[in-house]
Amino acid sequence: MSIAIPFDNSYARMPARLFTAIDPTPVPRPKLIAFNETLATDLGIETGSLDAEDLAGLFSGNRIPQGAAPLAQVYAGHQFGNWNPQLGDGRAILLGEVAGTCGRFDIQLKGSGPTPYSRMGDGRAWLGPVLREYVMSEAMHALGVPTTRALAAVSTGETVLREAPLPGAILTRVAQSHIRVGTFQFFAAHGDTDALQALVDHVIARHYPEIESIPQLLETVMERQARLIAQWMSFGFIHGVMNTDNMTVSGETIDYGPCAFMDAYHPDTVFSSIDQYGRYAYSNQPHVGVWNIAQFATALIPLMADRDRAIEDFTEIVNRFPALFEAARTARFAAKLGLPGLEDPAIVEDLLALMAEDGADFTNVFRNLPEARDEFVNREGFDAWARRWQALGPDTALAARHNPQVIPRLHLIEAAIQAGVAGDFAPFERLLAVMTRPFKAPPDAEGFTRPPSAAERVPRTFCG
Ligand code: AMP
Ligand code: MG
Ligand code: MG
Repeated sequence: MSIAIPFDNSYARMPARLFTAIDPTPVPRPKLIAFNETLATDLGIETGSLDAEDLAGLFSGNRIPQGAAPLAQVYAGHQFGNWNPQLGDGRAILLGEVAGTCGRFDIQLKGSGPTPYSRMGDGRAWLGPVLREYVMSEAMHALGVPTTRALAAVSTGETVLREAPLPGAILTRVAQSHIRVGTFQFFAAHGDTDALQALVDHVIARHYPEIESIPQLLETVMERQARLIAQWMSFGFIHGVMNTDNMTVSGETIDYGPCAFMDAYHPDTVFSSIDQYGRYAYSNQPHVGVWNIAQFATALIPLMADRDRAIEDFTEIVNRFPALFEAARTARFAAKLGLPGLEDPAIVEDLLALMAEDGADFTNVFRNLPEARDEFVNREGFDAWARRWQALGPDTALAARHNPQVIPRLHLIEAAIQAGVAGDFAPFERLLAVMTRPFKAPPDAEGFTRPPSAAERVPRTFCG
């Protein structure tokens, strides 16, 4: 087998204390479940001469391709607000980076065996979360949301012990980088300003070459996050575990653990089984966003010559987050209502209030306006709202571009996982095909557009 991946591993050239060089642990019987050929081509990876067995060997970590420099990155982070000084890639290994015509991308295996950062974990993943992340991240990309991508999924032939013995799998994740707020926090906490500066220089060169200063970096990362969270919310997306180690500085969505798209709308919606107090509830996401950005600002302070002055300046920058977020959110929701501007901001909030009261389906209400009255118990309330909205002269083509017909609802993912565990990947493939064209569902997509029945509803998600 020969495979040409044009690696150029800039992170591996960073100071050695930013990572540990380590190879994936081989697996007994790798089998290819999915391969994202379009993405591979975009990355400049030549796979034409490879068969499924070659690809399984590659994306299981059993075969290290020429030019790879496998490593695990170290980071720290605030998990549910609590400081954890020692985290890192505990079950992920960066194979390397490819720098093609569309930019530089990390190629990372997730579930590829233990690393020095595994703590009590086994370094593995089971099939369920791998299929989930594959569908969720590719759906997000298709919705136009910045996100890590899925390049491949393989089953390992190994059993992974969770609540029960489960089939093992590995996801190949692609990202502009895997550098997190928590990566900065790790070196700030160690008082390692040399590593911190190297990280700043790396991130600026890699993601923001137009930037000239650290305050600008803070501002840019903040703007990206404000826009990202506004986009999530415009699709009813709940990330579920917005720890600082799960926030990238590139502005990509990362870590599809307990995330979900809401069916019935309510601002307090939480799915994650470990989010006891609703810290990462739907409507709390911007508040956590600014909190995380404040941690990023704090981690950058040691690099500033005049630290007292920097604290003042950074505080002023971070205080702009709420307004930035609100503007981004308003623009997104206005577009969902087909309104290029928003002369009547209450038109959004009033609809959401009606939806919350009746638990109306988030995706279907927006997609089916003005014919969404059956989603409501309070139909007179909806009718009155709809008259007000119609009077604003909405542009239905604009609305259609911002309102998907389908989102990967939890119960659909759950069904695809159950079939996959039983060895049938057809439901997963069909789900993926529909979700990667969310604005153009096929005519027979009724099963994908309707909300779950009471029996199908998935009330909780798990980290996997
Ligand atoms: P997450 O909740 O996915 O953001 O993970 C938090 C931390 O736990 C990260 O440092 C992960 O690398 C680590 N981790 C999660 N699952 C495992 C596992 N099965 N084995 C080793 N480390 C893990
Ligand atoms: Mg994580
Ligand atoms: Mg995770």
